[in-house]
Amino acid sequence: MPHISHLINGRSVASERTFETLNPATQEVLAEVARGGEAEVQAAVAAAKAAFPAWAGLAPSERARLLRRLGELIAQHVPEIAATETRDAGQVISQTAKQLIPRAADNFHFFAEMCSRVDGHTYPTPSHLNYTLFHPVGVCALISPWNVPFMTATWKVAPCLAFGNTAVLKMSELSPLSAARLGELALEAGIPPGVLNIVHGYGQEAGEPLVRHPDVRAISFTGSTLTGQRIVQAAGLKKFSMELGGKSPFVIFEDADFERALDAAIFMIFSNNGERCTAGSRILVQQSLYARFVERFAERAQALALGDPLDEKTIIGPMISAAHLAKVRHYIELGQQEGARLVCGGSEAPELGGALARGNFVKPTVFADVDNRMAIAQEEIFGPVACLIPFRDEAHAVALSNDTAYGLSSYVWTENIGRAHRVAAQIEAGMCFVNSQNVRDLRQPFGGTKASGTGREGGSWSYEVFLEPKNICVSL
Ligand code: NAD
Repeated sequence: MPHISHLINGRSVASERTFETLNPATQEVLAEVARGGEAEVQAAVAAAKAAFPAWAGLAPSERARLLRRLGELIAQHVPEIAATETRDAGQVISQTAKQLIPRAADNFHFFAEMCSRVDGHTYPTPSHLNYTLFHPVGVCALISPWNVPFMTATWKVAPCLAFGNTAVLKMSELSPLSAARLGELALEAGIPPGVLNIVHGYGQEAGEPLVRHPDVRAISFTGSTLTGQRIVQAAGLKKFSMELGGKSPFVIFEDADFERALDAAIFMIFSNNGERCTAGSRILVQQSLYARFVERFAERAQALALGDPLDEKTIIGPMISAAHLAKVRHYIELGQQEGARLVCGGSEAPELGGALARGNFVKPTVFADVDNRMAIAQEEIFGPVACLIPFRDEAHAVALSNDTAYGLSSYVWTENIGRAHRVAAQIEAGMCFVNSQNVRDLRQPFGGTKASGTGREGGSWSYEVFLEPKNICVSL
């Protein structure tokens, strides 16, 4: 049985206690993982603090060279890391191998380039010259969820290190394996010991002491809204980036390109097994095309290949855990009790043979005639469950879109250019994609408003959490 240790100060460190990480497609135990707590967090933060001055003092070009090397190593190991990620997190191999892991490598190349471009501002007056410097913050806590774990971790580690900070990364206890590989590759790339530390363990035991630690200066967190709120309360005065949950509207007007909108709607709720923060989980369809859309959408959903995530043809893999599967099933039953129309799918286990019979699978499920006030439309299900909601006109579409606690992403489909801009401006969300699925440009500000979080990351937006601006005012 493989054993996964923490990475502290460049060394593999075990804990007395361990936990198992399971393959969600089969329940096979993949590895025993060190179960960190207060002591491991203390050691990791101390290592990051000790490594900080030398790392921050390196020329940006030298940091960039090391980060590029790490990006190259990830690119060389895509098949291996993708298979690990698929086995540990259940993301289908076509996504991990072709998109998610290559994108993780790109994150390092992108921020390697950016780190030598950090500049300041000048504010001259006849009597004084003000200018700003951007300093690295220090030790950062990077906390990642279980969905797309490797991509999310690199999305945090790359800017954090590029801008001269050191890191303690805590992966989700449900999908820790790929990040363990990231730690090994970082050392192989020549990143000095202590610059990137990884502590494994549960949120309460390892995450909480990390966010409370007084030497941690910034927290970049991706996870649920509930945990985000707890962290903000526990951490005290620190810099925060909080990338939290979502219930994003996917709005289709009657003048939309029907087939493209249909493709994108399917992708945005069923790809990544529906375990996607930016999922278009509330699909708002204008009344005149609603009946046709429901029929075509359900046909497509039923045809999605469900099963072994290591099979290239599979579109929908297992839910991350038995507990999460139970939660998704609960929402499917709740939707029926609330009076939504179950068009396809449902909470019964799909018929899968062999070892997959023990996996955490749920059928792609479509609810039509959903009332936006129902729990299935208001709460984040985080699984392959689509809610189809009819709307009358533009004002109604905007009102329904905004009738949610969340505000992460949004999608607007219309061929009317004026309407596209009007609606995009009115939707309360951190991101709006017009006639497009979610396409990530690494320069774009990624993040949400309302219960979906605070702060933005991406390109120079990552300065907000990973750099500290200082103003210097000189009397002339
Ligand atoms: P989660 O909040 O349960 O856990 C996230 C991480 O926080 C894990 O590493 C966990 O161990 C840790 N944690 C838990 N309690 C903690 C505590 N008290 N202190 C410190 N750390 C703690 O989330 P999850 O179930 O792993 O992930 C799914 C959620 O993440 C969904 O809500 C999804 O929308 C959200 N998400 C958001 C984005 C985004 O960019 N906005 C991206 C991906 C996922």
